[in-house]
Order: sequence, then structure tokens, then C-alpha cells
Amino acid sequence: MEPLIDSYGRTHSYLRLSVTDRCNLRCVYCMPPEGILRKDREEILSFEEIFRPTGLFADMGIRKVRLTGGEPLLRCGVERLVACIAAVPGIETVGMTTNGVLLKDHLEALQKAGLKLLNISLDTLRPERFGDITLRQNFSQVLEGLEAALKLGFAPVKLNVVVIRGANADELLDFVEFVRDRPVSVRFIEYMPFRANNWRQDRFMPFREMKSVIEEKYPLVPLDNPDDPSRVAREFSIQGFRGSVGFITSISEHFCGNCNRLRLSADGCMQLCLHNPGELNLRHLLRAGCPDEEIARLLRNALAAKPYEHHALESPCGGRDRTMIEIGG
Ligand code: SAM
Ligand code: SF4
Repeated sequence: MEPLIDSYGRTHSYLRLSVTDRCNLRCVYCMPPEGILRKDREEILSFEEIFRPTGLFADMGIRKVRLTGGEPLLRCGVERLVACIAAVPGIETVGMTTNGVLLKDHLEALQKAGLKLLNISLDTLRPERFGDITLRQNFSQVLEGLEAALKLGFAPVKLNVVVIRGANADELLDFVEFVRDRPVSVRFIEYMPFRANNWRQDRFMPFREMKSVIEEKYPLVPLDNPDDPSRVAREFSIQGFRGSVGFITSISEHFCGNCNRLRLSADGCMQLCLHNPGELNLRHLLRAGCPDEEIARLLRNALAAKPYEHHALESPCGGRDRTMIEIGG
């Protein structure tokens, strides 16, 4: 089948698959304080309903799949999901973004199932602060999960840190120090506005500011590979460090021109842009018995309307109703 190319010539080869809308943390920048109205079980795609479009998308050039959520490790049988996706012809890499709370007990099975890339989200290295950010008390489980992943040879493990002024921005140097002896790539993520996620301009710290704070102590050597069309993080090494430092600059210096991503929400909606309300309800199509060719045609039509860039600051979440936890990051 023809590759998935939008009207700006961007080829889509990466699928982010949200496998649940449930979560065991309540991160204040992701989940609204009142929680979210959970979808009914029958609204969530079954494994079979995930496999079929994954195979179709692989035929159209998707090569990398990342499982996310909600918290993907809360999806029962997630190892089977990883194994089946890894076995889809054409899929080269399966990754996962997890909050790490349940990771330790799943790691070996996930690795056996074919999981290659692991991103763990942890926004503070201070146990007492973890509760303020996540409204839960699982700090030590996350750290144990991270250390276990390193022991099992996941390398580099990516450590996602959403940087929020007044919450954890004073820990930038601590995180950098954390990767001195660990093969961990810490990625400082700009705080993005979504519905009901407490975003405020004065809490937002742009990439340039984070970088200059770090450079006062550690000289950063660019690792960027400008030829990698899908790169989202600006990566740096530090002499003598096993780990590296990256920045996800979605807001201050967006990378929309390189976007190669499609997103499928747990309830089966294809989202073409994180910050745009445009969706294609794949669940309805699958359940109506729509043939592959028709799904492919509708997806291409939707892709043709994908905007060139987001306007997240003017219109958080593109004015749509979904919160970050329902989109999957
Ligand atoms: N529960 C998993 C986790 O936390 O890793 C996966 C889902 S979570 C929505 C995926 C990623 O989105 C996490 O790294 C999280 O930190 C990030 N994220 C959530 N809300 C964000 C926001 N407002 N701005 C930037 N990143 C955000
Ligand atoms: Fe849950 Fe991940 Fe959102 Fe935190 S960032 S509330 S762990 S989905």
C-alpha cells in the first residue's frame, strides 16, 4: 500500500497506541483534579481491534509502535499485546511509555515479548515531592522499576521529566547528576497546555532557559542528528557521563515540520495531531465491518487535513474535550 504522506509531504511511520484510559497516578499536569469519566469497557478497543489496524498501518509504512495510556501496565495482558504487535510484519520497534509504578514485575515478560524501548516518567527525585505532583506515594516503586530496567539491559532508558516552575524546575541539575553513572537519557519536557491541566504561562519553563541553567554547571555537547527526520528531542552529552540530556521543545521550538506520528486513543479514535481536535473514529469503522481499503482511504483523507503546525498556546488542546490522559502523550 502507498505510504501515509500528508499534504506537507510528511511520511508517517510512528504510531502511538493508547491502550487504556486508566491510571494509578494523578499527575497534576495531566489528569484534571476531578479525575476523568472513564469510558465503558465496551468503548475500549479489544486486542483484536488493535491488531487489525496495526497490521493495516504497517502495510502503509508504520514501523514503530509505542504503547502509552493512561498507564499501559494497567492493561491486562499487556505482554501479549506487545508480543503480537512485535510480530506484525513491518513493525520494527515496539516501545512503551510508563509511569514505572508496576514496571518491576512486568519487565522480564515485556522484554521476552519483544519490548525494545522504554520511557519512564518521573518528575522528581525527592520522595516527599512525588506525592505533590502525582497525588500518590509510589516513588520507590518507580525508582526500583528504573533500576531493574537498567539491570535487564534496556539502554538507554529514557527518563521523561515534565518541567514545571514552582514544582520541580529546581531539580534540573539533580536529574543531570542522576545520569552521570547510569545509561539513562533524561528528557526535560516542556509543560504543554491541555484541558484542565493547571497550565499557566508563569509555570512554563522554555527549553532555552532549562539549557542555560544546566550549562552553568555542565557543558552540553550536541548529539543531534539533523538527518533523523523524526527526532523530537534535542540531545546532548556531557563529557564523562554515561547518560545524556535531552529536551522536548514542543512549545517554544516545535518540531511539527518533522512530525511522523499518528495516535490511536484507547477508545479507538485516530488523532492526527496532539493539539488538534481532528479525529477519525476507527472503532466505529471496525465495528461496522468496514474493509481495510476503505479504512485506508478515510485515514488518508483525514491525513490530508492534518495542519502544518499546532497552536497550542492560543488554543490548548485545539479546543477539544480530551485531556492529556485521554490522548496518551
Ligand atoms: N502513564 C504513562 C506515563 O506517565 O509515562 C504514559 C502516559 S503519559 C500521558 C505520557 C507522557 O506524557 C508522560 O511522559 C507524561 O509526563 C507526559 N505528559 C503528560 N502531561 C503532559 C503535559 N501537560 N505536558 C508535557 N508532557 C506531559
Ligand atoms: Fe497517569 Fe502518565 Fe498522566 Fe501521570 S502522566 S496521570 S502517570 S497518564
